[in-house]
Amino acid sequence: MSDKFDVVVIGAGPGGYVAAIRAAQLGLKTACIEKWVNKEGKSVLGGTCLNVGCIPSKALLEASHKFHEAKHDFDTFGIQAPNVTMDVPKMIERKDKIVTQLTGGIAMLFKANGVTPFEGTGKLLAGKKVEVTGHDGSTQVLEAENVIIASGSVPVEIPPAPLTEDIIVDSTGALDFTATPARLGVIGGGVIGLELGSVWSRLGAEVTVFEAMDTFLAAMDQQIAKEVKKSLTKQGLQIELGARVTATQVNGQEVEVTYADAKGEHKKVFDKLIVCVGRKPYTKGVLSEDAGVSLDERGFIFVDDQCQTSVPGVYAIGDVVRGPMLAHKASEEGVTVAEIIAGHKAQMNYDAIPGVIYTFPEVASVGKTEEELKAAGVPYKTGVFPFSAIGRAMANNCTEGMVKILAHEETDRVLGMHIFGQNAGEMIHNGVIALEFASSAEDLALMCFAHPTLSEAVHEAALAVDGHAIHMA
Ligand code: FAD
Repeated sequence: MSDKFDVVVIGAGPGGYVAAIRAAQLGLKTACIEKWVNKEGKSVLGGTCLNVGCIPSKALLEASHKFHEAKHDFDTFGIQAPNVTMDVPKMIERKDKIVTQLTGGIAMLFKANGVTPFEGTGKLLAGKKVEVTGHDGSTQVLEAENVIIASGSVPVEIPPAPLTEDIIVDSTGALDFTATPARLGVIGGGVIGLELGSVWSRLGAEVTVFEAMDTFLAAMDQQIAKEVKKSLTKQGLQIELGARVTATQVNGQEVEVTYADAKGEHKKVFDKLIVCVGRKPYTKGVLSEDAGVSLDERGFIFVDDQCQTSVPGVYAIGDVVRGPMLAHKASEEGVTVAEIIAGHKAQMNYDAIPGVIYTFPEVASVGKTEEELKAAGVPYKTGVFPFSAIGRAMANNCTEGMVKILAHEETDRVLGMHIFGQNAGEMIHNGVIALEFASSAEDLALMCFAHPTLSEAVHEAALAVDGHAIHMA
């Protein structure tokens, strides 16, 4: 086999594997190098997202939600299920099976599309050469017309809470607890912390979330964030804002956490502690000293609007470059770069990337928040509609939350959509489409939405932008 490729991709997460498949579909001779080895010591594709991120966390969120619903909500529907129990190892086993199925599926997609996989570590050398070091230490050099770096990110560790074998863990460790901890601490009240805190809270853990910032979900629309905090607190998550963890002490099978807030210093003891304070770009061993690729001041690979690095023909995508650390953003950048390499015109729209928090109910948003519009001095109008006035939400026994639409005061163009409610992660695509097509709120208001659906709240919120929602007194 020749060692010359049109495209060599380093990393097979949702950025890298999608880029590789699309490049191969476009007729480019493509290789993809991946170094991930799973718990069983097997080389696997799929990166963070499939192995220890999006998919496994959703498998646990779904299982814990079903358990919680059966235990606490079935009675409302007239269903009696008095002896519902949770088999945690079985839940974990199911999660692992889904991961194996999906990562194996990517290997099949590579085969079907003609992507050549390499197991091992890829390092970019000068002159668009890529050295591959196999798991056995053997090396070979691939020559590439184009290189796509998609090496992803890793969790941030903090000095006051060094990870231990099984008591102080990161998000990966929290996906593999073999039993529900009675007392669980979570450092970091961001997306991952709230999702993992929710999983174990639903299964019976007493959960405390420590968030150093004074504002809950500071980057989100604050009208929505306030409702989310109220809801999670009602579900039993104790959310401590302005609480900075300063030390931890493991004593036998428990850990004592010292934290400081406006009222002073406090201590709290947990059986497990999850550190979820964010993720940082991963470039260790990816670039040789003379590769010529620059990093920015925060350690991300520096790229332009088209994901081109400081070296022509070398691109970088996904978590290792600026922008939201989201799987779908990584994948879209992968497709965009593959198209550009194939000589097509392609451009990513960074203004229409949805973000979802998979709590129950879900939280989803796209576009600008009210705070961002205010800060930028953009004149806007707002339409808000609560799920409590939606028939389907009542039938589903989930009337919490609302849809909020922000539109330009003069042009009526939709600038942002924010949803807190059941299936918000599905409904937000109404907003993505509206933003992509530069729709006005009136465009949404004039559409016919199926009845009875939760999406009718989007319709009503669009009508509310001009003050004439139908089902609102
Ligand atoms: P990664 O998925 O990190 O993949 C990078 C790959 O590159 C890895 O497989 C790594 O082994 C490999 N690699 C690195 N260096 C080399 C090298 N030198 N040679 C060979 N291979 C190398 N995002 C969402 O959009 N939705 C969610 O619901 C969601 N949930 C999440 C839940 C958790 C618990 C976590 C941790 C993350 C979650 N994310 C979610 C974030 C999402 O996983 C990432 O945004 C996404 O995986 C980034 O994709 P990527 O391809 O850039 O990087």
